[in-house]
Amino acid sequence: MTGLSDSFQRPINYLRISVTDRCNLRCIYCMPADGIKLISHDDVLTFEEIHTVARAAAELGISKVRITGGEPLVRSGLPELIRMLARIDAIDDISLTTNGTLLGGYAAERKQAGLRRVNVSLDTFKPERFEFITRGRSGLGNVLEGIAIAKSVGLNPVKINMVVMGGINDDELLDFGAKTISDGWHVRFIELMPVAGGGTTASQFVPVSDMRKRLEQLGKLEPCLPDVGNGPAKYFRFPHAGGTIGFITPVSEHFCFCCNRLRLTADGKLRPCLLSKDEIDLKQPLRSGISLSGLKRLIGETVARKPMRHHMAEGYVLEDRPFSQVGG
Ligand code: SAM
Repeated sequence: MTGLSDSFQRPINYLRISVTDRCNLRCIYCMPADGIKLISHDDVLTFEEIHTVARAAAELGISKVRITGGEPLVRSGLPELIRMLARIDAIDDISLTTNGTLLGGYAAERKQAGLRRVNVSLDTFKPERFEFITRGRSGLGNVLEGIAIAKSVGLNPVKINMVVMGGINDDELLDFGAKTISDGWHVRFIELMPVAGGGTTASQFVPVSDMRKRLEQLGKLEPCLPDVGNGPAKYFRFPHAGGTIGFITPVSEHFCFCCNRLRLTADGKLRPCLLSKDEIDLKQPLRSGISLSGLKRLIGETVARKPMRHHMAEGYVLEDRPFSQVGG
């Protein structure tokens, strides 16, 4: 039992750390078309500051850390941060979420540093569509190569995250599903969340119930038992498939009742919930020499402010910061 739980008795053991708000892609579902106002370099937490927050959080009961962004692999020296986090005794799981374009080059080094597993965002197998979704960036070949290299160096599991958008990439659902049979991929289908000023619309939303019906053209989806994964996805597999199908339903069926996470933004704000504007600043206290116990108190306060649930189904739209800044 973790030492940290919120006012709804949810155990909190998971910290997502956004190490940068920079990204080398411009995905239509993630960022507004006119870009984002970047955080100034001075305001981005240093590795030492991130390590201090992680150490305080670990002393309170955090045992799992995910590194995200922005695109975390554009932050130089990342293996050093992974090594620093891996040295914190209470942290037993370090993972990464990436767009995969820079994954191949340093996958082995990151694994050696202490990274255990990786999630790769991939929304299409078609190069021209990749450019459309990423607003003109190329790199699909690098992502596919990065996935293969990550597996070959032993990062396990490698999970693929596909944001499903009606009329944009939903015609590839079966291609992604088939990869769980042919290549043992673990693919997670994510419902599109609304982002203010983004390049997607509500009409492109595809509920998981619909995705599931379409995927069953490939075979009967059998639930994975006992429950696999430790996040919000519900997992299934096709008969004889080596890989799994995960469904993530932030919109059609929220999973806040089992939310176990906190999020640290690149500029040092600790957020109790991805989908609420509430956040507590840790950067200024860190730079003013706050003690570890002071930091633990602020983390505890953030946990106490975790809302019971988000309100996207009632029309809430993430608008104060894009996902790339909050570490989606
Ligand atoms: N750059 C990294 C990447 O591409 O995975 C990490 C950051 S990205 C913000 C993290 C995750 O957020 C990705 O898996 C992406 O699919 C998801 N995401 C971003 N915007 C989303 C949206 N509007 N709806 C659903 N998922 C979204």
